Amino acid sequence: MAILVTGGAGYIGSHSVRALTKAGRDVVVLDDLSRGDKSVVEDLLRVPLIVGGTGDKDIVSGIFSSHEIEAVMHFAAYAYVGESVERPDIYYRNNVTSTLSLLESMVEHGVRRFVFSSTCATYGEPSSIPIVETEPQEPINPYGASKLMVERILADFDTAYRLRSVSLRYFNAAGADPAGDLGEHHDPETHLIPLTIDAAHGRRDALQVFGDDYDTSDGTCVRDYIHVNDLADAHVLGLDYLEADGASAAFNLGNGQGFSVMEVIDSVARVTDHEVPHEVVGRRQGDPPSLVGSAAKARDELGWNPKYPDLDVIVEHAVNAR
Ligand code: UDP
Repeated sequence: MAILVTGGAGYIGSHSVRALTKAGRDVVVLDDLSRGDKSVVEDLLRVPLIVGGTGDKDIVSGIFSSHEIEAVMHFAAYAYVGESVERPDIYYRNNVTSTLSLLESMVEHGVRRFVFSSTCATYGEPSSIPIVETEPQEPINPYGASKLMVERILADFDTAYRLRSVSLRYFNAAGADPAGDLGEHHDPETHLIPLTIDAAHGRRDALQVFGDDYDTSDGTCVRDYIHVNDLADAHVLGLDYLEADGASAAFNLGNGQGFSVMEVIDSVARVTDHEVPHEVVGRRQGDPPSLVGSAAKARDELGWNPKYPDLDVIVEHAVNAR
């Protein structure tokens, strides 16, 4: 039996494929390669790659007919907050409609375990920090809304079709596998840590700091950066949990510690031994001031224990893979 990993050529997906294969699992990757890298799957991960979209019923049905798939890990999605505000149409189509189509195919083929990449962006502006899973989910951007819609669909598919799911609400995925071969390569890159590293190394102009007038310790946004290998491990544990007949559930995946944009800049300066040229510009639309998660539930129920909680280590691994 194999695990179908959608978006396995992408950043979090590729790290999770490696975690699965290390755990002795067979993996098949489905990726449309719009934002992922073919050579990562074929040359580094060495697992079968099927090129196509999750919304393509023929391709997805073909995979379920030709492989014995016991569960799906679904990473394929668009994941830029700013872009989602500008292009909500592509976010709802790719993140919601295509996922619904994938779930329909799963039901048709009797595949009933689903590990879903959700996000802390489903919480919007939380009323208390650290955020626990029972915090009301009131997203403030289309990206978060699209992921919340899928969580709702999953709850209904459990009731109607006994499709069991684990929704993993990531905080800010960061770092890279210490092996240094699987990095974070988005095009265009919008994420803070890779951009800060590039600014430190003079590979781009000054980093733009999006707003310093937030109600936080130094006025810049605070996020909870979690190592991508720790996220990947949580996916394997989520699968184990479903196989042990765990009920559908959502789990936060974060470090429980927040760092401001300025603290990330300081960390990159320490690790690279380079100053980070930066300038403060206006706020980015759709950014909540502070997102820090409690992962107590994932620790208690999944047995998840992040191995790399230290920001400088996360940054060091990101530097090595860049
Ligand atoms: N950020 C920034 N400048 C950039 C990119 C990001 O100041 O060039 C800030 C952004 O406003 C947010 C934090 O860094 O507060 C993390 O942003 P990122 O895009 O990495 O992740 P997100 O929190 O949007 O998922």
